[in-house]
Amino acid sequence: MAAPRGRTQEGRRGSGGSEQSIGIAAPVAGQAAGFTVARKGRDLQFMNVLVLGGGGFIGSHLVDGLLRRGGYDVVAYDLYREKLEESIGHERLRYVAGDIRSDHERVERLVAESDLVIDLIAHANPSLYVSNPLDVVRLNFDENLKVVEYCVEHGRRLIQFSTCEVYGKTVAPLIGPEAVVSEEDAARYAVFSEDTSHLILGPVGKHRWIYSCAKQLLERLVHAYGLEDRLDYTIIRPFNFIGPRIDYLPSEQDGNPRVFSHFLQALKDGTRMKLVDGGGQRRAYTLIDDAIECIARIVGRPDACRREIFNIGSPDNELSIRELAARMIEIYRRRWWDGVGRLPTTETVSGDAFYGEGYDDSDRRIPDITKARTLLGWEPRFGIDEVLERSMAYWFEEPLERGLVEKPVLTGA
Ligand code: UDP
Repeated sequence: MAAPRGRTQEGRRGSGGSEQSIGIAAPVAGQAAGFTVARKGRDLQFMNVLVLGGGGFIGSHLVDGLLRRGGYDVVAYDLYREKLEESIGHERLRYVAGDIRSDHERVERLVAESDLVIDLIAHANPSLYVSNPLDVVRLNFDENLKVVEYCVEHGRRLIQFSTCEVYGKTVAPLIGPEAVVSEEDAARYAVFSEDTSHLILGPVGKHRWIYSCAKQLLERLVHAYGLEDRLDYTIIRPFNFIGPRIDYLPSEQDGNPRVFSHFLQALKDGTRMKLVDGGGQRRAYTLIDDAIECIARIVGRPDACRREIFNIGSPDNELSIRELAARMIEIYRRRWWDGVGRLPTTETVSGDAFYGEGYDDSDRRIPDITKARTLLGWEPRFGIDEVLERSMAYWFEEPLERGLVEKPVLTGA
């Protein structure tokens, strides 16, 4: 495992000071569960937020977003800080370099010092689910469970990042390829709701599902602590967030990033985009800015979100991976192509050839966001073309400034 990079900034919050009772921005967990919570000598106008995984793709955007909105003292804990470039140096940010797997005492202390814990730490990359299933369950379940228990122990509110992968597959492939499923039914099967949809995973031998399963078990534990009135929590299920700083290009380092990065690489090199199993599988892409707006509302409205699970996604942005390839080529041709270089074509590869044995796929997933709309008044604003164009612009317009970002071993969900 890579050693943590970057230096830890000295905390701007002293550990001394007298114990004070809770102010307006006080820990809701303590209030909700009836615990007595005290905070040490801090500015009571500011909510102290611990973002575990604050240096990852989602985490870094969330840290930037909270600091921009104001009213928060943020501790970003992560192995890496490269993605925090915009906010490092901000007077209300403390970056703590660490690896949650070997840093238990300090993580517990950070939890105890915070009002709200947002846990994004996870392996969140399908190729890893196939190549390192044990690492996935050890981090995504074992280590995250410790964080849950620190929150229980210290009466802290927890926002736990889960995944839309908990939904698994739609029933369409279970009905069988021979069954004729109408377009309308297929679309209906693909809409997943937080509190009513069934979670359908593949067999154990398809270890891709270990990620989904670990996240699901964590959700169930969090829920069980809630049932016992011992934890104030909100669970978030992100649906394919993309935007600046997601992943890395395959040419930049070893590994297998998500499809967006593979297609970007093909655009840069004029090589072929690989469509796994033909690219008929579908995803709904959400611009990180839309996602952060929703998460910020969850952070700021604990009463509306207590013990709720939220899908966050853009249901209207659903397209097949084959269509994703075509859209990205078209946007590139229109915005950045020099008229001379080769434009990519596509080719089909099998899932096992691309990822290794044990791969299985989620055929389709569309978020039902009724709950976020109703409880938070949130609505995603960016359509699929803008989502792709903005995400691509980061790579085609800022590559020199961006430099080479080391692969995040631990990253947001
Ligand atoms: N995929 C693809 N070509 C690639 C990489 C991925 O066709 O170069 C497919 C993959 O099999 C999956 C979809 O694209 O069906 C999205 O994969 P990704 O790794 O982005 O993450 P997921 O949404 O499955 O978590």
